[in-house]
Amino acid sequence: MLINMNQMLEIAKEEKFAVGAFNVADSNFLRVVIEAAEENDAPAIIAVHPTELDFTKDEFFQYAVSRAKNSSVPFVIHMDHGDNLGSIMRAIHCGFSSVMIDGSLLPFEENIAITKEVVEVCHKIGVSVEGELGTIGNTGTTIEGGVSEVIYTKPEDAEEFIEKTGIDTLAVAIGTAHGIYPKNIKPQLRMDVLEDIKSRVDIPLVLHGGSANPDEEIARAVQIGIQKVNISSDYKYAFYKKCREILSTTELWDANAIYPECIDAAKAVVKQKMELFNSIGQAKVYRDKNVQPWRQEQA
Ligand SMILES: [Zn+2]
Repeated sequence: MLINMNQMLEIAKEEKFAVGAFNVADSNFLRVVIEAAEENDAPAIIAVHPTELDFTKDEFFQYAVSRAKNSSVPFVIHMDHGDNLGSIMRAIHCGFSSVMIDGSLLPFEENIAITKEVVEVCHKIGVSVEGELGTIGNTGTTIEGGVSEVIYTKPEDAEEFIEKTGIDTLAVAIGTAHGIYPKNIKPQLRMDVLEDIKSRVDIPLVLHGGSANPDEEIARAVQIGIQKVNISSDYKYAFYKKCREILSTTELWDANAIYPECIDAAKAVVKQKMELFNSIGQAKVYRDKNVQPWRQEQA
């Protein structure tokens, strides 16, 4: 079933679990996420960065949307780090039920202005919007970008930002970074900042750069009030580690001979994340609550 982010995270908030958002840029990774979700009866978010959409091409989403719609498990198809109204419109055209507009590198007032504009457009057709405040770090190992130092979200800004933009979810900067951390860097999450934000705002909060943080820290953040955790590097790494192993020890060249084991390796990581987020078995809650499939509303 395809639903939007509001439908997805409202229940996660009530039931105190988080939903993993996994970046997808081809049919192998789409299979990893959808099949792992089905095997574990866990809700999941299919996240697509604008550079990933450039690679998959728009038509890929005719397949992705129909695969998600025909599943018994709830999915959101979400644009990750949309950079302008153009990429947001492209995602909507492809059938996405949710978008992120990332104006976090802009001055506060400009971030408010662009985010508000995206909310006005998206809410007319029932597409959910995620905004971002503060800046998420970059370990230098990913396409997602960010800055080399984390600027923590100011709790009072979060309150004002949500009020002025009307966003549905907020990505907060509490010390995570995109990519896998180099050996000399220890990620440190600021739970006090998260608790302060949580005490002031009511909408679901999002954690980016969730790969390679200690499991206890992520679990603690979920307990405090993170409802969506973005995962990209960790599970892609597992896929290609297996792939490198196969290619360096065999002469295989058929996709259907090479990739099944890679898919399984990546699925194992997705399952482990789902356990951490307490989302295994939670798809049943959406069915029990009779959550209805999402459709673009008429403007
Ligand atoms: Zn991100």
